[in-house]
Amino acid sequence: MTLSLNNLFTKELPADNLSDNTPRPVYQACFSFVSPKIPSNPSLIHLSIDVAKQIGLEPEELEDDDFLAIFSGTKIYPNTQPFAMCYAGHQFGNWAGQLGDGRAINLMEVTHEGKNFTLQLKGAGPTPYSRTADGLAVLRSSIREYLCAEAMHHLGVPTTRSLSLISTGDEVLRDIMYNGNPAYEKGAVVCRVAPSFIRFGNFEIFAARQDHTNLKLLADFTIQHYFPSINETGKEKYIQFFDAVSKSTLDMILNWQRVGFVHGVMNTDNMSIHGITIDYGPYGWLEDYNPTWTPNTTDNQHKRYRFENQPQIGLWNLYQLANALYPLIEETQGLEAILDAYTKEYDAKYLQMMQSKLGLQIQHTSDRSLIQELIDLLQEIETDMTIFFRNLSLVLKNDTPATALSKIEFAFYKANDCNESIALKWHNWLSKYIDRLQLEIVSDAERSIAMNQVNPKYVLRNYMAQLCIDAAEQEDYSILKELFELLQKPYEEQPEYEKWFAKRPDWARVKIGCSMLSCSS
Ligand code: AMP
Ligand code: MG
Repeated sequence: MTLSLNNLFTKELPADNLSDNTPRPVYQACFSFVSPKIPSNPSLIHLSIDVAKQIGLEPEELEDDDFLAIFSGTKIYPNTQPFAMCYAGHQFGNWAGQLGDGRAINLMEVTHEGKNFTLQLKGAGPTPYSRTADGLAVLRSSIREYLCAEAMHHLGVPTTRSLSLISTGDEVLRDIMYNGNPAYEKGAVVCRVAPSFIRFGNFEIFAARQDHTNLKLLADFTIQHYFPSINETGKEKYIQFFDAVSKSTLDMILNWQRVGFVHGVMNTDNMSIHGITIDYGPYGWLEDYNPTWTPNTTDNQHKRYRFENQPQIGLWNLYQLANALYPLIEETQGLEAILDAYTKEYDAKYLQMMQSKLGLQIQHTSDRSLIQELIDLLQEIETDMTIFFRNLSLVLKNDTPATALSKIEFAFYKANDCNESIALKWHNWLSKYIDRLQLEIVSDAERSIAMNQVNPKYVLRNYMAQLCIDAAEQEDYSILKELFELLQKPYEEQPEYEKWFAKRPDWARVKIGCSMLSCSS
């Protein structure tokens, strides 16, 4: 197996000078060298040929014994030194101090076709940043991360990618409900891939410690290697960097809102400076359109990371990054201007995004209210977000409101809920919508094609991941393979998989892992 190494992070940035793995504060260092835990009986469950290709691996190299050895943490690839990064973060709005890669180990950094990639194992054992935890990951959470990252990529949402999913043969103890009933579960490691795994928190830790030397080193490194189009020097360079992070963060969140993804733990240590979705934990997908929903049980009380709050949280997190970069700039003006622009820009882009979901290509002043009325109506009775938007593309310019309603009512969880008064509201809205469609120049067929490129037919519904996990616990990976295939083409009709174009079944309403998730991964 041959990979083209660059190992920029470890070559150019300061390392922790201690090499022991005991949990401890690490100062004046961007990372610590660590060794992955050797699994007792590693076995490959799944790999992504597409991601392998991206990093420069040929299909025949995937058959190599080395593939399993290296991506399970059994063997170290020649001329590499695995490392865990040091970072801090704000968790649920509070400063949490040093966190770091507690169960992530960067194996190596490679270059392929002019692009840089860091290959990182999640669940490969303890590091100096593991605090009181074990550095391991269970099969259930590894499947969720592995599948969802690939699903998001194919949905067009910026994300880390998944290279491989390997069961370790080791058991991991978890108290899934945090109720004093821990149990052993199967362990696994995922190899994930990103341009880098640098987070907002990597900057926050140096700013908090007033270690401005390393703050500058890390910022210069990040800009030089990952933001090469920034040509400015001095303060302006860091302002441009912040602007780029702000814009990509906004775009990522806009995409989450488009497809109904709820991250669940938008702490600043889970925010990538590349504006890619990172750290798939207790995430979930909106099924019935409930903007106040969060899948994360830990956040049940305040619902800080609920669906509708994600854009604002993105901004809150950017404020923390701005504070962290401030010592390099020592002026608030430039940073404030970028933060002030965020809300306006989000509003404008949100409108465009929703117009595209409705198939509205020309601009019209009534669109804002049409969209707001729809958002309100979607919450009147339990209505499936994905099915609603997908089926909306079936509505024709010369439909009556009643015909149009018959095309979307499959999205209602209980047909009976659509009583006379609800039906009347839908008739009113659909009649406005059909009137509005008359202004569109494109044909019904063309509009439908455009809508089907932004409104996915298939997403990784919470119950689908759970069915896959239940089977995988019994070493049946058939659903995993099927979902992996299905989610490669989320916008295409796939008649053989029509059964996955379905509302959440009743049993999933209250089942752990489907309607609610904990962080016990
Ligand atoms: P998360 O919310 O999953 O992104 O994790 C927050 C912090 O806890 C990060 O610093 C993780 O590295 C750490 N962490 C989470 N789970 C574990 C674990 N099982 N072992 C060690 N550290 C962990
Ligand atoms: Mg994290």
